[in-house]
Amino acid sequence: MENDLKRAAELIKNSNSMIAFTGAGISVESGIPPFRGPDGLWSKYDPKCLDLDYFHEYPKESWTAIKSIFYDFFGKAKYNKAHKVLANLEKEGLLKAIVTQNIDNLHQEAGSKQVFEFHGNSQRMICPICDQMYLPGELDLNKLPPRCKNDGEVLKPDFVFFGEGIPEDAYRKSLLAARMCDVVLIIGTTGEVMPAAMIPTEAQRAGATIIEINTEPSNYTDKITEIFLQGKASEILVQLQDLISLKK
Ligand code: NAD
Repeated sequence: MENDLKRAAELIKNSNSMIAFTGAGISVESGIPPFRGPDGLWSKYDPKCLDLDYFHEYPKESWTAIKSIFYDFFGKAKYNKAHKVLANLEKEGLLKAIVTQNIDNLHQEAGSKQVFEFHGNSQRMICPICDQMYLPGELDLNKLPPRCKNDGEVLKPDFVFFGEGIPEDAYRKSLLAARMCDVVLIIGTTGEVMPAAMIPTEAQRAGATIIEINTEPSNYTDKITEIFLQGKASEILVQLQDLISLKK
């Protein structure tokens, strides 16, 4: 492990265009559980609240669950050391962009600037008619469903629901970043959710080296990962950061 950490630190230090690809695991230490698994969000809530057809038919019921998960709960979570190390690496010029599947806004809160939100962001709401954006603090979420102040339409959280396409801009930028990068740091994802899961694979096909951080092996580990660093995202990233700055 120590040797793998040193190899990874060396690769990062010598990279020209590294990107990170993050999933629910990076936010577990912020208290946000993954969706699936015994302690996952879907053990408490019914995933149909994020089904587009159900949302259109039953906006009040959907919004009751959405408020409880994404505003009463996600909205209070704070970024952790793993998010912060990525923001520091960007500031140092060692990380070009983050492609994230997460919708919790924690990369941005930690200070990361170039974040491609593959599945959108739960901390914004959008009017499907006039595209007006709202932040949670701009609305009274005691009255559900929240409505647009311009046209009265029911607002939708600005993340990808089941049955919805990937935001075009994030998709295009993520794919381009994958094809241009030389190292991908995969953090806390099973690699099971398509089409997001193909981003590291595209990068590896185009010649990038894959470093992976996860508490468990993932779909990538035996296939494309060059260095697998097993452990919690914050612990491994802090160790990497220390090794990188030692080598400066
Ligand atoms: P996932 O739930 O399928 O997998 C989580 C991964 O994180 C697992 O591989 C697990 O071993 C790993 N992990 C758990 N704790 C970790 C830790 N402390 N450090 C490092 N790794 C850890 O997550 P996914 O692959 O991102 O896919 C789930 C989908 O659900 C995504 O599309 C995402 O949009 C969404 N989601 C987002 C959030 C969020 O925004 N925080 C939370 C739950 C789910």
